[in-house]
Amino acid sequence: MLISEVRLHPIAVADAPLRSSYGRHAPYALRTIVELKTTDGITGISETYGGERPLAALEAVKDLVIGRSPWDLTGFWMKLGERGAREAAGKGDDRSQTYLVPGENPLDQHARTFAAIEVACLDIIGKAVGLPVCDLTGGRARPAPAFSAYLFYKHGGGGGMGGDARQDEYGECLDAPSMVRQCKQMIAKYGFEEIKLKGGVLDPDQEIDTIRRLRAEFGPKYPLRIDPNCAWSVETSLKVGESLVEELSGGGYLEDPTASLEGMGAVRRGLLSKGIETPLASNVATTCFEHLHPARNHDAVQVVLSDPHYWGGIRNQQHLSRFCEALGMGLSMHSNNHLGVSMMIMAHAAACCQHLSYACDTHYPWQTDQDEVVLGGRVPIVNGRVEIPDKPGLGVELDYDQLGRLAELYRKIPLRRRDDEAEMRQHVDPNWRRVLPRW
Ligand SMILES: [Mg+2]
Repeated sequence: MLISEVRLHPIAVADAPLRSSYGRHAPYALRTIVELKTTDGITGISETYGGERPLAALEAVKDLVIGRSPWDLTGFWMKLGERGAREAAGKGDDRSQTYLVPGENPLDQHARTFAAIEVACLDIIGKAVGLPVCDLTGGRARPAPAFSAYLFYKHGGGGGMGGDARQDEYGECLDAPSMVRQCKQMIAKYGFEEIKLKGGVLDPDQEIDTIRRLRAEFGPKYPLRIDPNCAWSVETSLKVGESLVEELSGGGYLEDPTASLEGMGAVRRGLLSKGIETPLASNVATTCFEHLHPARNHDAVQVVLSDPHYWGGIRNQQHLSRFCEALGMGLSMHSNNHLGVSMMIMAHAAACCQHLSYACDTHYPWQTDQDEVVLGGRVPIVNGRVEIPDKPGLGVELDYDQLGRLAELYRKIPLRRRDDEAEMRQHVDPNWRRVLPRW
């Protein structure tokens, strides 16, 4: 069985005006759906970053994919690694996400591209042998991986534009009481048992207040984490860490409070000197295996936030799990806006990691039925968990009517790259720039 065709579907998906230190989400998020056809008539699917650059990167590897066996993943990785090294030459060495949102750093393009193809190949193999993807890669550590309630400060609006606007399910949330309301709604609907707040938006004192109110409302049974995406100085990070020592204990963490491994290391030392052991988590400063050694050396990161979409796929996620276990580091999972195919990629990846210390992030509650590409509608999240279905491959198929509609939407809108700063300037403050640290 050989891969005979690569089909790439750039799509646009309505997205609410969520805020972070990067700025504000645009009315549409961009994704790419990948289909691989085989000589045996099997189609494998996956989902990855959207817009011009990720699409061009996938277009550029078609020659390496067509004619290859879906089992030949090591050979494909080696080929892409060679190209990646050539393409990265002269582009510096900052593979962090300090200044570039996930999906945009040219230095991890080969890992992202590989992941999109690897997952579609695993879907093919699963369908060929009649096994779910997580069972192909060694079996499950857990049958139904847990995800967390991912809370965002946001402006009013549910995404989309004009006649294509979505219902604003959660309303405007720009203070602590509205965030408690958002969390209650999300937990009532999905049953999440851990809570993550995207911070770096309001003054740190207001965000401290938000976390305290969440703790007061939900109690210590719901571990809390906050992620300001490097918006704080080392000093401010220490102040927040001290203020929230109780709230972030018992299964919580402080995520990317400040930029760089050196900065994170300084926060860690400062907290430890005050007897505070709140772990620091990162998806910004640690984005690849090469970052693990310096992260450990600086004691900068105690919880690695993986993501099969840019760490190089589901098998790399398993390798990372083993690394983190051996290095005494925790492991959790990062997310970006995504649809049901990615939901299943993340669920299979989480299911087959022996070492996974926290509920994974997911943006899934921020997308709607109207934008789902999975046949039969959205992947269910029950009691905060996604059950691996008893179906071969990823366990989901594409709804081609929906795919066509979202592809048409992509063609209609001018957006080709995520630019949260531009959205801030258009809607909030014409002079807004991302400044690090802001506080
Ligand atoms: Mg993060």
